[in-house]
Amino acid sequence: MPTAIVAGGGIAGLASALALTQQGWRVTVLERAAVLGEVGAGVALARNGVASLQALGFDDGAIASIGTLSRAGGTFDLRGRPILALSEDVDGVTMRGVHRARLHGALLERVQERGVDLITGAQVTSPVPGVPGGAQAEVTADGITYRADLLVAADGVNSAVRAALAPVPQPVYSGYSSWRAVLDHTLDPPVLTQYWGPHAELGTMPIDDDRTYWYGYVKMPQGTLLLDEHLAASERFADWASPVRQIIAATPPGAVMRHDVFHLPGGMARYHHGRVVAVGDAAHAMLPTMGQGVATALEDGICVGKLVGEPVAAGGDLATALADYDAARRPRCRTIARSALASAIAGSHLGPGLQGVRNALMRLTPRSAISRGADAVMGWTPPV
Ligand SMILES: Cc1cc2nc3c(=O)[nH]c(=O)nc-3n(C[C@H](O)[C@H](O)[C@H](O)COP(=O)(O)OP(=O)(O)OC[C@H]3O[C@@H](n4cnc5c(N)ncnc54)[C@H](O)[C@@H]3O)c2cc1C
Repeated sequence: MPTAIVAGGGIAGLASALALTQQGWRVTVLERAAVLGEVGAGVALARNGVASLQALGFDDGAIASIGTLSRAGGTFDLRGRPILALSEDVDGVTMRGVHRARLHGALLERVQERGVDLITGAQVTSPVPGVPGGAQAEVTADGITYRADLLVAADGVNSAVRAALAPVPQPVYSGYSSWRAVLDHTLDPPVLTQYWGPHAELGTMPIDDDRTYWYGYVKMPQGTLLLDEHLAASERFADWASPVRQIIAATPPGAVMRHDVFHLPGGMARYHHGRVVAVGDAAHAMLPTMGQGVATALEDGICVGKLVGEPVAAGGDLATALADYDAARRPRCRTIARSALASAIAGSHLGPGLQGVRNALMRLTPRSAISRGADAVMGWTPPV
């Protein structure tokens, strides 16, 4: 039975672990946190993320229990005037609003059912990549050395495994920090809506029948300390449209969290080294402006199973399988990351001077172009 170590028990790590067990691998997940769990609030899971969950064995009922079906309602300016209002008849922009903790919990439950060894409080250090066809990969965690046929680097944007293998790319601060919160609130209509203003964006979406997620992505120096996150968010969006002000006002102050946003421009030059394969943010952390971080992490997991796990379990060559994974994943993730950057430049990163011009141009964009663009990203299907 081939063996794998997964460094990091986030969404990419658990999806990879699950996909490898589906191919008959014995898997150990090493997670540095004392308790396996997920911080964060909501996530808009697009069709490609849902297709990945299906390939991981989630049926319609299981997917419905993770998140609520919604659709993209479009983009509005800070006064609430449509820039790109989407109607129900625009295909390709349905999504599931999910709570990250619920998605992570569902993956965790399946990983446990499949007998994966989950070791917490295990900070991975000193990775040795090994050689396909030769020495195994190894890592140290909590004073113990682990060896396996495959090491999955799923340790996030600040990946220690990546840093040891490839000095570039380094995480870069986006210049933006993001407030996020979930509150008991019913959105009317229940759609994903985003508002753009100078150097800021605010989005709202339902994550179940009576809970709503919002994020406020704003320009801010790295490491800014705020005494009261809720008050600061209220002040930052004080002159925005009333739905924006209302949702912040309705949020319990303790429910507001904020994280500085980092990304890996260009992503890794290669998603494999020796016996190591990189997934999720460790390989290609992208700006959140396409809402594709979780979906591509799930896609990576499925592809590790299908493109690496399956052929190797059948006696195939690991080096070839890793090259196939790289060829399938790197161009796609780079393209999405570039789109996220382009979307940021034209959207939330745009300063005050050009808001009117941008809005006028976007109002002229044909809906069919939006649909095609969404399809290119969200129409992805897992390898068979
Ligand atoms: C503001 C914001 C909004 C977002 N919105 C969306 C959205 O709407 N839709 C979407 O799809 N994506 C979204 N994303 C992106 C998404 O959150 C990430 O892309 C995704 O969570 C990446 O998962 P991951 O498992 O690769 O990394 P992570 O979630 O970072 O998990 C890494 C895991 O590895 C562990 N770890 C780290 N180092 C070590 C080590 N040395 N040893 C052992 N364990 C280690 C960590 O504790 C963690 O558990 C958003 C991101 C941000 C910042």
